[in-house]
Amino acid sequence: MADVPAECNIKVLCRFRPLNQSEVVRGDQFIPKFQGDDTVLVAGKSYAFDRVFPTNTTQEQVYNTCAKQIVKDVLGGYNGTIFAYGQTASGKTHTMEGKLHDPHQMGIIPRIAEDIFNHIFAMDENLEFHIKVSYFEIYMDKIRDLLDVTKTNLSVHEDKNRVPFVKGCTERFVSSPDEVMDVIDEGKAARHVAVTNMNEHSSRSHSIFLINIKQEHVETEQKLCGKLYLVDLAGSEKVSKTGAAGAVLDEAKNINKSLSALGNVISALAEGTKTHVPYRDSKMTRILQDSLGGNCRTTMFICCSPSSYNDAETKSTLMFGQRAK
Ligand code: ADP
Ligand code: MG
Repeated sequence: MADVPAECNIKVLCRFRPLNQSEVVRGDQFIPKFQGDDTVLVAGKSYAFDRVFPTNTTQEQVYNTCAKQIVKDVLGGYNGTIFAYGQTASGKTHTMEGKLHDPHQMGIIPRIAEDIFNHIFAMDENLEFHIKVSYFEIYMDKIRDLLDVTKTNLSVHEDKNRVPFVKGCTERFVSSPDEVMDVIDEGKAARHVAVTNMNEHSSRSHSIFLINIKQEHVETEQKLCGKLYLVDLAGSEKVSKTGAAGAVLDEAKNINKSLSALGNVISALAEGTKTHVPYRDSKMTRILQDSLGGNCRTTMFICCSPSSYNDAETKSTLMFGQRAK
C-alpha cells in the first residue's frame, strides 16, 4: 500500500472490522462494498475518505499507511493527534492499542512506541532526547489521571505561551518501548480497578495517551519539541430517547456534546475558514488545541461495524467522518 499523500493535514481514514461470531450466528448481512482503496458503499450511498481499510487489513498495514509518517513528523518538531471514532465495539481500541504485547495484533500506540526509539537510535549521537508520556481519561467532563488515581478532576491551564495543558497530570519519563508499554499497562490496570464494568466504562470515556518528545543538540543547544496525542474516543452510539434515563442519559448527553464539539472543530479546520475554530467548547478540544489543524498532523480513524444490524450507526459514523473532508 502506498502512503497517504502528505499535503493535507487532516486525514480521515475509515476502517471496517469483520463480522463477529454472534453477528454471523444471528445471520446479519455484511453491508459495506469497498470500491478502490478510498471509497465505501453503504446502503446505496458512497463515502470517500483518504483511505478505506477493508476488514482484512492488518494492523501493520494500517500503521504503515498512516501513523508511521506522523512519528517522523513529531520527531521533526510537529505536533499531532490520532483519534479513533465510532460506536462501541467498532474497533477503536483494536486500532489504537490492539493486543499490546502481540507483535502481529498490536495497534498503533505500541507500534509508535517502537518506532520512536528505532528512529532515535539511528539519529545523530549529539542529540539528547527526553521523552515523557501521560495517560488520562475524560469522563463526564472530568479529567482523571490514569497514572495517579487520586487525581480525579484535573483542570486545563495555559502556559506562558498560551499552550493548553492538563495541570498536575502525571508525566513519566521513558527510555524504551518496554517502558512505554509498562506505563500503558499500569494505566489500564488503574482504570480496571476504578470501575466495576470496564467495557461499559471505556465506551463512555475518552482515553488520551500523550507522548511528548524534546530533543536538544548537545553542542549547539538547539532544541526541538513535538507531541502526539493518541485518543480512543467514547462510543458514538445514540442512546434511544425512550430507553435511557438518569445517569445513563446524562452520560450519553455528555458524550454527544463532547463528540459534536470535536466534530465542529475538525470541520472548521477542514473548511479552512480559520476565523473561528470553536476549541473552547469542550475540555478535550481545549487540550488538543495546539495539536489539531494548522501545522499539526491530524488523523481521524472512522471505525465501523459491517453488520446490517448496526447500519444506522454506521451511516451516522460515516457522516461524521465526511464532515472532516
Ligand atoms: P471499541 O474500542 O470500538 O469498543 P474494540 O476495538 O474493543 O471496539 O473491538 C471490539 C471487538 O472486535 C474486539 O474483540 C476486537 O478484538 C474486535 N475487532 C475490532 N476490530 C477488528 C479488526 N479489524 N479485526 C479483527 N477483530 C477486530
Ligand atoms: Mg474500546
